[in-house]
Amino acid sequence: MPLIETEAIVLNSLKLGEADKLVTFYSHKFGKIKAVAKGARKLKNKYGSSLEPFTYGRLVIYDKNSRVLYRLFQSDIIESFQKIRADYDKIVFTSHFSICVESLTPEGDPSSSIFNLFLSLLTYLKSEKVSSGIIHLFKVKLLGYSGYEFLLDKCVKCQARDLGTQLSPMLGGMVCATCASKNPSNSFPVSLAVLAILKQTFKMDHELIPRIKPSEDVIQEISHLLDVFLFHLLGKKLPSI
Ligand SMILES: [Zn+2]
Repeated sequence: MPLIETEAIVLNSLKLGEADKLVTFYSHKFGKIKAVAKGARKLKNKYGSSLEPFTYGRLVIYDKNSRVLYRLFQSDIIESFQKIRADYDKIVFTSHFSICVESLTPEGDPSSSIFNLFLSLLTYLKSEKVSSGIIHLFKVKLLGYSGYEFLLDKCVKCQARDLGTQLSPMLGGMVCATCASKNPSNSFPVSLAVLAILKQTFKMDHELIPRIKPSEDVIQEISHLLDVFLFHLLGKKLPSI
């Protein structure tokens, strides 16, 4: 069995059997993966605290040719992000983002953009205060990197460029007045400020996201449309922040 090394961030873990853990990671080389950590729940185990949520580490895994389930051989901490796990608000917000990553990404499909985005958020939260605004903007960027960037410069239905202010989260973008009137329950008006922030966030380098300072009203609007979009996309409601 070949041994493979990859950097990865711990998303979560579940108890498995008497003494093991099933850990879900977002890895640099393979995207989302699951790995069995044998004996990880024993008092003395070789993994130490490297399997705590949000830990950024270097893994050595056995490839069992399943490309879905791996066996964890070794994990070393690169950055524990303990400061995030020591702050209740940061745990709640980061867990929410982590669930979004887990829900939006298929197993075994790597994206260095998503990996770096998550790492960038963790690095930011290590030293800065958390806010729902930051998390929602990182979620917007996550949607973009996951292939779900909203179409904002023309009607998502008929491609018309003559747009009003109606956005349809279900269709994934703006709709013109004619298309909006055909199915009024599918779209709702968004403010120009929200449109500007969405366009900016999709386009900009994610390292610069913390520089955007949206108002509380804009954050509420973005939060609502992300909820509607994600519910439509995933068919389930994610735990709210
Ligand atoms: Zn249209």
